[in-house]
Amino acid sequence: MTAEAVTIGTWGVLLIVLAMVLAFLMSLRAHPEDRRGPRAGLANLLLSSEPLQRARIWRFLFMASNHAFGLLALNYGAQHGVLDAQACQVLTVVAVGVIGAIYLALRSGWNRRFADPALMALQLWAGIVLLGWGYLIGGPGRPVALILLFVSLMFALLTVTFRQMTQASALAVLVFGAAALGVVGQEHDQPLVVELQVLYFCVLLIILSSACVLVRQLALLRERAAHARHDLAEAMAKLHGQVIRDELTGLFNRRHMHKLLRIEQNRADRSGLPWCVAMIDLDLFKRVNDEHGHPVGDEVLRSTAQVLSGGLRGADQVARWGGEEFLVMFPETDSEDACQVLERIGQALARTQVSPTVPDLRVTFSAGVTRHLADEPLAHTIDRADHALYRAKASGRNRTECLSGPV
Ligand code: GH3
Ligand code: MG
Ligand code: MG
Repeated sequence: MTAEAVTIGTWGVLLIVLAMVLAFLMSLRAHPEDRRGPRAGLANLLLSSEPLQRARIWRFLFMASNHAFGLLALNYGAQHGVLDAQACQVLTVVAVGVIGAIYLALRSGWNRRFADPALMALQLWAGIVLLGWGYLIGGPGRPVALILLFVSLMFALLTVTFRQMTQASALAVLVFGAAALGVVGQEHDQPLVVELQVLYFCVLLIILSSACVLVRQLALLRERAAHARHDLAEAMAKLHGQVIRDELTGLFNRRHMHKLLRIEQNRADRSGLPWCVAMIDLDLFKRVNDEHGHPVGDEVLRSTAQVLSGGLRGADQVARWGGEEFLVMFPETDSEDACQVLERIGQALARTQVSPTVPDLRVTFSAGVTRHLADEPLAHTIDRADHALYRAKASGRNRTECLSGPV
């Protein structure tokens, strides 16, 4: 086998290794949920088991493989005498050192202490300097540096801010501008050297301005998406409020109270603490409607709802159960305490001006209170509270009755 064939074979193997590394990285991205097997073990070791760090290191290694390809190309050129072998060696050593240092910074978690924990700006800046250096010493292969810069910038589009991209572009103009001047100095005896450098510099400007425009557009898209998400979240919250509340009084509706009762039942089953339910019904409310009209009746319902919510403790919950009926849930409360609270609220309501339209109008309510018994269905507790309410009505209204055991 000739020396030439061995050399081509070595470069071929290196390229295949690089392609395999890239394929491996791509496969990790394609199956991030795969947490078992040797591939997952290797991924945890190389990247990190923590998802955010993993994504950062993955992105870095992808960019680094781009630079590794550049180094391979450079060394290939050096071996074939188209560029200075010593300069190529120095650049290779420095580039491998920089890539290794950034990898260690990311893998050790040191990056977390910075405002830009992905070290994106640093990666971009280091990449630009290394590529500019490669451009300077790259001989006829120097346009490869521009292509690799383009790839790096396209990749960074997704992660850098507009500000970071414009700063990186300014750096690229300086570095590549200086490199182009260096090339003109080195190769002034070559034909069309100035023209070629001007041409490459124009290509660089097109690449950089495109990258800046794209980053700006992506930022605007992200901003719009964030607004849309915010609006959606607000609409969902509003809708949720409408779904769980009664339109007239603003209190919870019957369906939501059912949910709260089930939650309280489960909680009390575990804690063993007593809790009570009260059914409240306005007295002779039909008469209010008949004498003053339905709108006044609505005003009374709204005022009653306010008096009820204002008189209850923070943990107690009240809902409009139906027409002029309300249900109150008293967590961690025995029936005597619940009765006392209701009597106090009843007295308050009897004194309250409940209709701005008919200022002298006063209303009262009757209430039935009962304690939830262990293991009984909620429907039984509610029936018993209803029964207690019926007793309160039968005993002359404007009172609270308590039923402690099964009816
Ligand atoms: P009792 O003391 O026995 O409870 O007498 P009542 O008049 O309150 O009882 P009844 O159940 O006969 O009347 C309830 C009334 O509540 C009848 C209905 O028109 C009225 N009502 C139900 N929902 C609303 C509402 O949303 N707005 C108004 N204004 N009235 C309502
Ligand atoms: Mg009623
Ligand atoms: Mg009534």
